[in-house]
Amino acid sequence: MLFSELGLSKALLDTLEGLHLTKPTPIQMQAIPLVLEGGDVIGLAQTGTGKTAAFSLPILHRLAPGKKAAPKKARALILAPTRELSAQIARSVKDYGRRLHLTSTVVVGGVSIRPQIKALASGVDILIATPGRLMDLIEQRAVSLNEIEVVVLDEADQMLDIGFMPAIKRILAMTPNTRQTLLFSATMPKEIRELSSRHLKNPKEVSV
Ligand code: AMP
Repeated sequence: MLFSELGLSKALLDTLEGLHLTKPTPIQMQAIPLVLEGGDVIGLAQTGTGKTAAFSLPILHRLAPGKKAAPKKARALILAPTRELSAQIARSVKDYGRRLHLTSTVVVGGVSIRPQIKALASGVDILIATPGRLMDLIEQRAVSLNEIEVVVLDEADQMLDIGFMPAIKRILAMTPNTRQTLLFSATMPKEIRELSSRHLKNPKEVSV
């Protein structure tokens, strides 16, 4: 199977070719068509399986071309457990989205909040965040989630272990009910199952 068989736009396929990525990994083969359909998806996959592209590519496909004039409110929100993973996701989103006119911003803890507030004020399409810092920014009214179309919970089991579950629930409650929700996790502890049944709508499950 090739990336060109999954329903992605020409701009994305050209970018993948430029990055010498031609064959989707198993999680990408399974998840990309489902995410493109617009429904909720649970992906059971470890790091290293290509899960970042499995959610990033269909999100970029969905959001491009940017429809609104700047300053733009975030349309996609990707939550990750750590600064390092957030930075990796941001790099992938930038790489895969290089032919698209979309803005992405990372907001994580442990660094100054002011530049993040400035970046958000100048407009963003795709927001990549750790839950704690995102809550701080919401409390400071620096970010609005009312135009979010798709939410990704990446490494949900890790976020649970760190203690982010209350923040995640509060964040989800601030996004529109019509959103698409994608949850990726290496394991499915009871709390993640409960979160899925409460906050995802008829999710389709893929596993590698
Ligand atoms: P991830 O599981 O998302 O952290 O990705 C692990 C690594 O696999 C990253 O370095 C990606 O660049 C790489 N990768 C993602 N998709 C593919 C693919 N279809 N073919 C080859 N490498 C890939």
